[in-house]
Amino acid sequence: LPVIRAQSSPDYVPDSKFYKVEAILRPWRVSQVSSALLKIGIRGVTVSDVRGFGAQGGSTERHGGSEFTEDNFVAKVKMEIVVSKDQVEAVVDKIIEAAKTGEIGDGKIFVVPVSDVIRIRTGERGERAEKMTGGWSDQSSAAA
Ligand code: ATP
Ligand code: GLN
Repeated sequence: LPVIRAQSSPDYVPDSKFYKVEAILRPWRVSQVSSALLKIGIRGVTVSDVRGFGAQGGSTERHGGSEFTEDNFVAKVKMEIVVSKDQVEAVVDKIIEAAKTGEIGDGKIFVVPVSDVIRIRTGERGERAEKMTGGWSDQSSAAA
């Protein structure tokens, strides 16, 4: 008999308690994405300015905000969000909803298993470290 798992991610994704959702986005869509995530209780987000090329090649952003660079890399923003397994699909859906224009260069999302989370201030690990005060799980337990 197949093992039935309460898992929102597909089978080819290694099973993990936590995942990092790493999204490469158009810089001018970042505020839209972060406010969408805030609305569902995502509190922990890291962003970096990056440059890259994909199918879009090195062609310049048509919507402005980023300059055509010497080496043809296009300015993008990388957003990294570590969440518990049950939150992955909603986070991915929200990012797509807020970031998609339908044009080449909308970006990509990578889902990466995360082995552990450690809160430096307290030394907490795992679930205790990953949960954010006032975050998704706090909000849903308050609603319950
Ligand atoms: P503390 O309660 O000690 O403040 P914290 O869990 O709220 O701990 P911070 O110290 O506020 O964590 O986080 C520092 C930085 O770590 C944040 O600015 C953010 O860049 C990053 N970060 C925290 N949690 C996450 C997460 N779940 N996913 C991605 N980045 C995170
Ligand atoms: N999983 C955390 C919580 O439920 C939120 C994680 C995050 O904000 N990145 O509190």
